[in-house]
Amino acid sequence: MTVARLAIFSDVHANLEALEAVFRDLDHQHVDRVLHLGDVVGYNASPCEVIDLLMERNVHGVQGNHDVAALDLDLAEGFNMLAYHAILYTRQQLDAHHVEYLSGLPFSLLLEGQFLLFHGSLESVNTYIANMYQAKRAFNFMRRQLPFVRIAFFGHTHVPKVWSRNSQGKIRALPLTKEPIILRSDEMYLINPGSVGQPRQKDSRAHYLIVDIDAMTVQFRSVEYNITLAQAKILRAKLPEFLATRLAEGI
Ligand code: ZN
Repeated sequence: MTVARLAIFSDVHANLEALEAVFRDLDHQHVDRVLHLGDVVGYNASPCEVIDLLMERNVHGVQGNHDVAALDLDLAEGFNMLAYHAILYTRQQLDAHHVEYLSGLPFSLLLEGQFLLFHGSLESVNTYIANMYQAKRAFNFMRRQLPFVRIAFFGHTHVPKVWSRNSQGKIRALPLTKEPIILRSDEMYLINPGSVGQPRQKDSRAHYLIVDIDAMTVQFRSVEYNITLAQAKILRAKLPEFLATRLAEGI
């Protein structure tokens, strides 16, 4: 099957209500394939339901730092108390087939021979691409390691972003519009769809991205979801209260 339109999302973080809202929106978007950029679990209350829905929808992706920490608690060493608490909860919830799904996620994925997917950076799941300096480092790393890749998708920061690098090596953050953004054939891109389950740009909606391969565009989409229900589940699971309140604020 030739893939013409992709949906890419990241950092679902066990937020079932947000993921369901994304799929409801996706049902009208005529995409051929759906992929995620890791951090399927952590922070929120529904890790099992989220993995089951991803499996049912045949969504493949890459591993995030919370996914690997759910498999091996030693990897949660650098986590703050909120994240650590949620990982302990996650580990209690997961059944064997959930563990198998998380274990099967690769560090990175190359798609259609031209799109690279990873969680933090190409160096590790824990590394952020959150500023110009880090974007420059990531572009340089890509140019050395995978010179044939021009476009990469990443997550981890929970903030939508498009970094571009022109042929002179100048790096800039593109303005994010509602309309599709055209990707030029002579530039490199690092693109973050933002987060489905815990957005941090003070916009509490669930965020994801549609890639049109023929038109070479990316389009950011944001959907409302039932935050109150997600919050109730967090409190019922006895997770830290701040994990519930932050969802409404988008922080
Ligand atoms: Zn995350």
